[in-house]
Amino acid sequence: MKVGVLALQGAFREHIQMLKSLGVEALEIRLPGDLDEVDGLIIPGGESTTMRKLLVDYGFIDTVKEFTAAGKPVFGTCAGLIVMADRLNGRRQDFLNLIDIDVERNAYGRQVDSREADIPGEIFGEEPFHAIFIRAPQILGKGPGVEELARYQGQVVLARQKNILVATFHPELTGDARIHKVFLQMLGRKAR
Ligand code: GLN
Repeated sequence: MKVGVLALQGAFREHIQMLKSLGVEALEIRLPGDLDEVDGLIIPGGESTTMRKLLVDYGFIDTVKEFTAAGKPVFGTCAGLIVMADRLNGRRQDFLNLIDIDVERNAYGRQVDSREADIPGEIFGEEPFHAIFIRAPQILGKGPGVEELARYQGQVVLARQKNILVATFHPELTGDARIHKVFLQMLGRKAR
């Protein structure tokens, strides 16, 4: 099992490290052809406007769509979630369109750049997940096919739709690998 991390921009090194700490082979994805080598993909946090431009410039759009349509799991965190969403502030964005959610960027306000919170969720068991939000987006709404996995202040912050997993925060920045393990389970399901 090999997992690719989109390495155009943003916090990709931290995801690679987390995967390696779990004994998983991790590959930096710099060109669309690199996706042939991997069974799953992580789109990291960073700056969504820059990432959006680079995804287009490097010709990733169709390849990522095909990758996903083949049932391979994709995990987006923060800016990654933004570029994967169907809608931004209620308006459809014609882009990757990987998950039926409506997203608002920088939704916690610009004056507070980041915040940390312990978020509960059945998927975590007893122990809540310590989540780091950095200029984080909020999920304003979601379609019926989207399963909520955790909430913070009443809003969904971790969600899944079939082979797509998204988090509004940065699970790669804490030592806690539980969300990456959820993603790896999705890969296992695919492989069986
Ligand atoms: N605020 C960034 C954006 O809109 C996302 C921040 C992040 O990925 N941590 O792209």
